[in-house]
Amino acid sequence: MELSELRQVLPAGEPAYRAEQVYRALYQQKIQDLVQISNLPGRVRLELAAQAELGLPVLDRRFESTDGTRRYLLSLADGKTVETVLMPEGDRDTVCVSSQVGCPVDCKFCMTALMGLERSLTAGEIVGQVLFVAHDNGLLEYGAGETRRFNIVMMGMGEPLLNLPNVLKAVRILCDPHGVGMTERRITLSTSGIIPKIEELGKAEVRPKLAISLNASTEEMRQQLMPITKKWHLKDLMEACRAYPLRPWEKLMFEYVLLGGVNDTDDDARRVAKLVANINCKVNLIALNPGPGIPYETPAPERVASFQEIVRRTVPCFIRRPRGLDIFAACGQLKRNNA
Ligand code: SAH
Ligand code: SF4
Repeated sequence: MELSELRQVLPAGEPAYRAEQVYRALYQQKIQDLVQISNLPGRVRLELAAQAELGLPVLDRRFESTDGTRRYLLSLADGKTVETVLMPEGDRDTVCVSSQVGCPVDCKFCMTALMGLERSLTAGEIVGQVLFVAHDNGLLEYGAGETRRFNIVMMGMGEPLLNLPNVLKAVRILCDPHGVGMTERRITLSTSGIIPKIEELGKAEVRPKLAISLNASTEEMRQQLMPITKKWHLKDLMEACRAYPLRPWEKLMFEYVLLGGVNDTDDDARRVAKLVANINCKVNLIALNPGPGIPYETPAPERVASFQEIVRRTVPCFIRRPRGLDIFAACGQLKRNNA
């Protein structure tokens, strides 16, 4: 529940700060049982218990990579499971959350696609993933000095823009200063490019930063690799990107998965540079993370470097270091693998 919803389920006549008290108890003091919110009158606790459920996802399994990455398999109330990843990094860790169980978008290079879609997640289940992983890693230690700052990326299982209302609600809950107190600048959402939803996202008052999975330099190749783009054309996508209302501090991010011998030539790089040239953006290159059922190969490091060099002449361009490859935690590998 957002704070505004919580206020409405409180018994009539209760002061407005009660809702904030509940938020502080749940998100900052990490209380997981209403009975333990000792500064809350009994009648309020009873009413809340009658109208709402409290709970986090439950740990099913946790996998540890040699590079420090942790992949969590978390169980939801209906028994479905979802994956969340923690990527430790110096003074700024990143939590990668899922927006759906599986994914309905059929990208040919992605293992999550092989699951199909089981269902979308609720806002509570998205927030719950962040809280579970944050608690497990001591990221929300209020009172013990400063809270460790971390980033959230909505780049786990699923297409977040096909679950936009719940995703936006989760972002609002996470950004509430009475609760976790995240900021929009530290949350990034990645999409395969659902054009009307990009426009809708741009209108949201509280919204994460936006990353677009470009993944091809021509319409034909993009349709081959990402069949959903037969509906959402590259030309229209680039137009939506140019029209996207970036905030003064914000750059659009483009992601590009490099598939050896398929979309990784210097000509591809030149076309990518041309596509994004007049957009305030940066490009992240991701060399394919391989896996069973994926019919592509990882390009040689020299190929990736050459691609980067060309794009870099036009816009900032980075190579995304794979995290947790050995435990199937890297981009495109989330498929509830039990290795
Ligand atoms: N569904 C959203 C967010 C999750 S995927 C999206 O597609 O944008 C996050 C990123 O991983 C995307 O940029 C996607 O293109 C990339 N990706 C998918 N499969 C991959 C693989 N096998 N290797 C490397 N990156 C991959
Ligand atoms: Fe879904 Fe993203 Fe994987 Fe495509 S790359 S199948 S949109 S999770």
